[in-house]
Amino acid sequence: MGFPRTLGELRQSPFSEQRLHSRRVKDELRENLIAKIKIRSDAPVFSGIVGYDDTVVPQIINAILSRHNFILLGLRGQAKSRILRALTSLLDPQLPYIAGCEIHDDPYSPICRRCKEEVTRRGDDTPIAYLTPDDRYVEKLATPDVTIADLIGDIDPIKAARGGHELGSEMTVHYGLLPRANRGIFAINELPDLAGKIQVGLFNIMQEGDVQIKGYPIRLPLDVALVFSANPEDYTARGKIITPLKDRIGSEIRTHYPASLEEGIAITTQEAWVRRDGYELHVPKYVQEVIERIAFSAREDKKIDKRSGVSQRLPISCTENVISNAERRAIRHGEKLVVPRIGDVYAAMPAITGKLELEYEGEMKGADHVVRELIRNAVAKTYDNYFKGADMQQIVQWFDLGGEIQLADTAGATEALQSLRGIQGLMEKLVKLNVGPKDKPETQVSAAEFVLEGLHAHKRIGRNEERVFKAGEKPPKPAEKPFEREDQPPYRPRRPFN
Ligand SMILES: [Zn+2]
Repeated sequence: MGFPRTLGELRQSPFSEQRLHSRRVKDELRENLIAKIKIRSDAPVFSGIVGYDDTVVPQIINAILSRHNFILLGLRGQAKSRILRALTSLLDPQLPYIAGCEIHDDPYSPICRRCKEEVTRRGDDTPIAYLTPDDRYVEKLATPDVTIADLIGDIDPIKAARGGHELGSEMTVHYGLLPRANRGIFAINELPDLAGKIQVGLFNIMQEGDVQIKGYPIRLPLDVALVFSANPEDYTARGKIITPLKDRIGSEIRTHYPASLEEGIAITTQEAWVRRDGYELHVPKYVQEVIERIAFSAREDKKIDKRSGVSQRLPISCTENVISNAERRAIRHGEKLVVPRIGDVYAAMPAITGKLELEYEGEMKGADHVVRELIRNAVAKTYDNYFKGADMQQIVQWFDLGGEIQLADTAGATEALQSLRGIQGLMEKLVKLNVGPKDKPETQVSAAEFVLEGLHAHKRIGRNEERVFKAGEKPPKPAEKPFEREDQPPYRPRRPFN
């Protein structure tokens, strides 16, 4: 590398004292952002962030232009950490610092005692090293047990004894995460989980550049861009964040789940591990839609806790599991093409249940039950998207007349196709899914099974636990319910005082 290796060389280079000195981290972020927007105003500022172009991204740009510390408020799985990490794309490719300095000192104005002494002693021979953008990003998940020592530092008596320093001298400090993020970006996730005392320490070092460690005052005028994330309810809850710290956070930016099914599918497709080796894969659009709708309906479902949200990781993990189940089937039957079916979505329940925090009502019913219901509703809505108003009477009749077909999720395509062709009126309906008799058996079976699952979701045909499709149960006549009056709740809560 042709970069200057000593302080003397550095002075003569583009990394001049004049340039570095007035350029704090937030100036650097701002300048590089402006340059990026100037070059192509329509290009995405942060690559790989989908669905935030008109909402979150403009607010982040404004925060950076304003040189703010900022916080992202949002539920889990809304790409908060990803956005924060993407900020490194706005840092210079190289940043010189005094080689060996734990807190990445500016060669022209070191703040740690070691470097000050080094520059005095060696002058222009002081060795210089460089940081990449990734070196300059420090991330910490806040938990109640994070200490001042973790975050800011600790007095290290051994260091003191070895170096012959007095305790409390800067030479005896073992630096924590924040000083190590000096001249970079420090991200704290779930900020409200940080103990009040630690928030005070954090604030002091931001505001005054000094902090007490074990009673010793330590001065560290750091240069750090601070960014945070939090769950909105935790953040706004009284007393969770100390006021002076809240005051120092320039912008509060709300994130959100994808606004449309299409955006959700785009994110899931980008994130899920779908490119497996060895097998050709075709994920039908209706399978993607069903998976995405599970997340969308779960976010609306009152059996599921709204405060914790339903992460985008649900459809992502689900997609991966769905593909794996289809892959397993293909391997068993020696099929070359992997085409997921709705049966694979039911088989992917292990990738769904753990991502839902249930409310009391949901707990009572059990996670399995809640998830089956979500899948079934997702199938029903997706089916309507393609077949609303289509005449399916002939197919329903085939079952009503005693027809039965078993479609295990492990059933091979060729064999299954034979049986499905026996259902009158079924295969010609697949034209609505752009599937015809010339398509591969794997594709035809998946499409036909989707139609049957759709009819089942609408309770027009039945299906048992062995995945045998058969005639639907005739709905019982609505019984009279003499003991329940629907116009009144069972008990009237007393009217609360205002
Ligand atoms: Zn230093």
